[in-house]
Amino acid sequence: MRKLKKPTDRVEDVFLDCISNIESSDFKKKLQSCISEISCATEEFEIKVETNQLHTIRKMNTIAGIVTKDEMCKVYTDKMAKKSAPGRKYYDTYMALPKNGICPLCGQRVVSTLDHYLPKKKYPTLAVTPSNLVPACKDCNKDKGEKEFENSAQETVHPYFDDIESDVWLYAKIIEENEVAFTFYVQKPESWTDTMYQRVKNHFSMFKLKALYGSHSAEEISSLKGLLTKLYKRTGSNGVSDQLKEYYESNKEVHLNSWKTAMYRALYKSKWFCEEWIEKQ
Ligand SMILES: [Zn+2]
Repeated sequence: MRKLKKPTDRVEDVFLDCISNIESSDFKKKLQSCISEISCATEEFEIKVETNQLHTIRKMNTIAGIVTKDEMCKVYTDKMAKKSAPGRKYYDTYMALPKNGICPLCGQRVVSTLDHYLPKKKYPTLAVTPSNLVPACKDCNKDKGEKEFENSAQETVHPYFDDIESDVWLYAKIIEENEVAFTFYVQKPESWTDTMYQRVKNHFSMFKLKALYGSHSAEEISSLKGLLTKLYKRTGSNGVSDQLKEYYESNKEVHLNSWKTAMYRALYKSKWFCEEWIEKQ
């Protein structure tokens, strides 16, 4: 759940660029006549996203009874997402927003698509709205699918509008078995409202982050086993704990709530890991 800079393009410019090479002048005029509807929908979206009221936006099958949802979805697919489409420059710009190409929804996999925060099939007026288009990896895009929000608590974290990077909320718990593994969970920072807490928990579960972080952390610790065992022989449990604390601090500098930060925090503080487990290896 990483913050991204919100695109500054006006939806009117994006929409007009997208439809600029439509040959049928009747169809083009029909689309052009929807511009104020699209503009108002974007305004409503940007007001309601700030107060977590997006679930109150009405779903639609047409735009002003003029353009069907299928026609509008095709504008996005053929005129924005397709390579060499007139709106592709916007698509490429939004895809390039995350640092190192990492998906802002999971913070792990690589961006490969744009996700409609409110699905275009249910909210066709928002099909080309820049603030509704979030760069995402394929898995996150698929996990969310066409799901809609029924209340504020269900509204997942929006990378352009929500900034939850300065509070610690992601924690790892060590599963104390022969092979070390971790379970990850969200804990509410004092400054958060209950709604924020519910939203982050819903985000965590919708994008299956517990399983994703669980796998990666298990891989990470097994790759460190040899190094930590040698270190234990040389320096004892204090040396192991100090080394893990350094990994924690280095990761924390980059992302306060990455699974690595949470994992190393749990490890360096664990007497069981730094003494008992490592002794047995
Ligand atoms: Zn992702």
